[in-house]
Amino acid sequence: MTTPDVFPLEGGCDCRTVRYRMETRPLFVHCCHCRWCQRETGASFALNAMIEADRVTLLAEEPDIVDTPSASGKGQKIARCPKCSVAVWSNYAGAGPTVRFVRVGTLDEPDQQQGKR
Ligand SMILES: [Zn+2]
Ligand SMILES: [Zn+2]
Repeated sequence: MTTPDVFPLEGGCDCRTVRYRMETRPLFVHCCHCRWCQRETGASFALNAMIEADRVTLLAEEPDIVDTPSASGKGQKIARCPKCSVAVWSNYAGAGPTVRFVRVGTLDEPDQQQGKR
């Protein structure tokens, strides 16, 4: 992406119990149209920002980690708000725990217009 550097960016779930800050630009942003992502998001595709786990700072409560089957068969761990169950990121067996797939839709500014609140 060629957007100006607007990081850090904050995001979180609907009820604001889970809040996080993406400290730096993600490794890349991945748009997945597979049926699994469609089911999980209820939309036509999932937009995930791949980022190192240590670049994501938790600002509020810890999300619940839910073991969920994945297309690869190895499973994934989806971090969901304990109250409203919105998924904020997931970890895939293939990439390991050090890489988080942050749901771009949970960012306060998904379009990365500006870094303000
Ligand atoms: Zn919530
Ligand atoms: Zn997918």
